[in-house]
Amino acid sequence: MARPVRVRNLARSLNVSETELLVWLAENAPAADLRHPADFLPADIAVRAQQALGRAPPPAPEPEPVERRCAGCAKLPPKPGVRLIEVGADAVCDMCGSSANKRAALAMIGAFHARGLRRLLVVGGGPGTAEDLRQLLAGEVDIRIVDGEGHRNATKADADLRWADVVAVWSSTILSHKVSKLYTDQRAAFRDKLVTVPRRGVAALCMAVTDKVSTPPG
Ligand SMILES: [Zn+2]
Repeated sequence: MARPVRVRNLARSLNVSETELLVWLAENAPAADLRHPADFLPADIAVRAQQALGRAPPPAPEPEPVERRCAGCAKLPPKPGVRLIEVGADAVCDMCGSSANKRAALAMIGAFHARGLRRLLVVGGGPGTAEDLRQLLAGEVDIRIVDGEGHRNATKADADLRWADVVAVWSSTILSHKVSKLYTDQRAAFRDKLVTVPRRGVAALCMAVTDKVSTPPG
């Protein structure tokens, strides 16, 4: 700082009040006789004042945690202390990674948690979709998948039905009538748990189950 500077400008740059700076000057540079914020400080005094009063700038505030979510995920409950920003379809969603399957699975997990449900039985579906479902629901929803062409007897089917909170019969997939019958014949006893999924794909299954779980029985 080689040039004279006004008291008020120096005070601002040092982040101290004008009064505080004038008091310091009166005590430490009385000969300069500086009384007013508009007065000019000689450069050497300004340097001394800067050394004596200079404060570290206030620390930058912690960046606020934000989460970018697509319109579908924005409907899910926010995480505490995290600000939600809804993004368009062209941006990547922090929650589902813009995957329709994951988005539907998250919604289903949320619906299960909200109702205190835990166990999903899926009747039908190919090996690929079974693997996808297990991955998407891992640790959140217990899933049992009945091979649509496999062998199941009535006793086992009955145990499955009792075990499950929700039973999804995936009618659009490879599902023999013999297998589906085991699960739907007892419709009367387990009607409240049962949902028929007419569409293919993991997202469709999760959406149908979410609807089933979110709609109160009636
Ligand atoms: Zn999303």
